[in-house]
Amino acid sequence: MVRRWARKWVNSRELPVSFRGCHGKTFSLYDNPAIRDELRSFVRSNKWAVNPEKLVEFSKAKMVPTAAAHYLEHITNFEIPEGLKKYMELELFPRIQLKSSKGISLATARRLLRREGFQFQKYKKSLYYDGHERPDVVADRQQRFLPEMAKYEEYLVEYIIGDVEHELWKMPNNFVERRLVLCAHDEMTAQANDDVGKGWIFDGAQPLWKKGAGRGLHQSDVICSTVGWLQEASHTLEYGKNYEGYWTGELFVKQVLVSLSSWSDSASSQYWQLKEKIIPAFERVHGAGFRMLLMVDNSQGHSAYAKDALLMSRMNMNPGGKQAHLWDGWFMHHGNKITQHMIFPQDHPEFPGMPKGMKYVLIGRGLWQDGLRVRCKDCTSNHCCAKQVLDHQPDFQAQKSLVEEVVESAGHRCIFLPKFHCELNFIEYFWGATKRYLRNNCNYTFSTLQANMPKALASVEVHTIRKWEHRMKRWMEHCKHFSMFYDKTL
Ligand SMILES: [Zn+2]
Repeated sequence: MVRRWARKWVNSRELPVSFRGCHGKTFSLYDNPAIRDELRSFVRSNKWAVNPEKLVEFSKAKMVPTAAAHYLEHITNFEIPEGLKKYMELELFPRIQLKSSKGISLATARRLLRREGFQFQKYKKSLYYDGHERPDVVADRQQRFLPEMAKYEEYLVEYIIGDVEHELWKMPNNFVERRLVLCAHDEMTAQANDDVGKGWIFDGAQPLWKKGAGRGLHQSDVICSTVGWLQEASHTLEYGKNYEGYWTGELFVKQVLVSLSSWSDSASSQYWQLKEKIIPAFERVHGAGFRMLLMVDNSQGHSAYAKDALLMSRMNMNPGGKQAHLWDGWFMHHGNKITQHMIFPQDHPEFPGMPKGMKYVLIGRGLWQDGLRVRCKDCTSNHCCAKQVLDHQPDFQAQKSLVEEVVESAGHRCIFLPKFHCELNFIEYFWGATKRYLRNNCNYTFSTLQANMPKALASVEVHTIRKWEHRMKRWMEHCKHFSMFYDKTL
């Protein structure tokens, strides 16, 4: 660099100007909640060009299967991304006054769609979800999920296979902890006109309905093998009347919450349900001898963090500016755990009351090196940049998501399912049975749906739920022994 400066001086009698602090932060469209919502509602509202005649043929199952598959592939891979691209460039960007120099590539549009779970799949009777074979998903399942489940196994209440009325007798070696009950949580939606067998599958779970499919119910429930459906934990949300165009429950919940408060609170309904309903309901039904092992899916809301959580991504390099006010961290020094404030004191001469930023946090830990950059394009070690150093600090590594914090602070445990592995959650069978009941008792009115929902949920017997739990465990065993079969990278 000194040579370069010298050369510049020799050639032009000028010294280079520093660009420090002049770089714009990189910005992903998807990081902006308002844009993300716009994109989601667009994607879900069928505004792309679809040949109507072909769609009719397809939906009446008149198209030759191979032709139908071909046509759908074309829609998914070209027409929808093309429509999304146009929408973003001609409508969304001008509206939010965003300039995109090169426009949006088809690949970007496809990536956004995939991120929204938008892939066409055959709607099969048995549960089937794509994405299993992705190497990161396989790794997460094999290296995190299954070992974590194995760790809990000796404490789990289980019933005998083939004799689900009787509990499996277990006496762990060190029986100090309370026994664990596996509780499965999930969300689903049901519409008053739920009687169709074909649809677009979104987020791996729910068929996608045409706009104006009517009012519906969004359910968030918990089941366990000891008592079955946890009625008191159940949470129902109505939708559809004033929110036409938003089809899926999850999106809807987010939409409503966004309109009511700020985006950062959108996960709050889940915590509210967790704190006010699920945990108390579990404790009332099971008593003090049991802890809950709550199984939740890996969706965005569930991996949300508290607004002052220790996350490097929310920090700047230097003090002050726009960055989160994090809670205290800690580090080890000569065997002592030392608390570190992430905000300078009010009487600090230079940065009173300001967030410290990465540099000063690292200085405080004796880890700062001159020239350390924020992050690398391709990291080479766990100390090549400030991001790596901080991410490997014990307090940052131990940062838990909000769901974990709420569950664990109440003395319970939770486990996140690997992505795309909804079939590992035995509550999927519960939804299947609930929906069957609703379909069989459907008269296409919303009031009937409302009246039927609690009956449908209560109609499933606990013995059936125990059998589903066994089915799920067979699945897990299968994953353990046949990981080679799935892992195509091997
Ligand atoms: Zn790095």
